[in-house]
Amino acid sequence: MKGLLIVLSGPSGVGKGTVRKILMEDKSLNLAYSISMTTRKPRIGEVDGQDYFFVDQETFDKAVEHDELLEHACFVNNSYGTPKAYVEKLRNEGKNVLLEIETNGARSVMDKYKDDDLFISIFLLPPSFEELEKRIRGRRTEEESVVQERLGKAKGEISLQTLYDYRVQNITPEQAANEISNIIKSKIHL
Ligand code: 5GP
Repeated sequence: MKGLLIVLSGPSGVGKGTVRKILMEDKSLNLAYSISMTTRKPRIGEVDGQDYFFVDQETFDKAVEHDELLEHACFVNNSYGTPKAYVEKLRNEGKNVLLEIETNGARSVMDKYKDDDLFISIFLLPPSFEELEKRIRGRRTEEESVVQERLGKAKGEISLQTLYDYRVQNITPEQAANEISNIIKSKIHL
């Protein structure tokens, strides 16, 4: 049977990456993570082909031009997109594919898959906005102007939470992953 398409969004710094890693360890969920293409520079510790495919703008624009992306969006001056062929290949193999993407890209995927029973969207929320600010600053990988931009963006993104099928608060990554795991299981009747 064809796999689910799962969109996971949430503001920058909410902990999507950590929650995703916990979910990926649960083999019973049969998940595959869709590795995005981005023009953003790698952060320390990020690996090309594992966290993202890090590309230049020209390569990204070509992928858009050749219709190779399922969706794409600009986020804080960088381009991000989901390679289409890979997602479909995995789903056809029966894998449940997880897209960790921002709200504009998520909206275009929601539009495309609104009638698909095998599509679900989940929004990950921080315990509070103050906590989110603490987490973004705690990462200490970005300049103040970028932090401010990401915080402003986060407010806008949080206001779109109602568009999603499910909302999960990330109090701890384990609890959030557990809730998401239950949502996925209810959908695939494990
Ligand atoms: P970051 O730079 O923090 O890794 O990612 C910035 C934002 O872009 C996050 O909200 C992340 O989920 C989102 N993002 C990552 N990959 C994609 C993608 O392929 N498409 C879209 N639309 N957003 C993405």
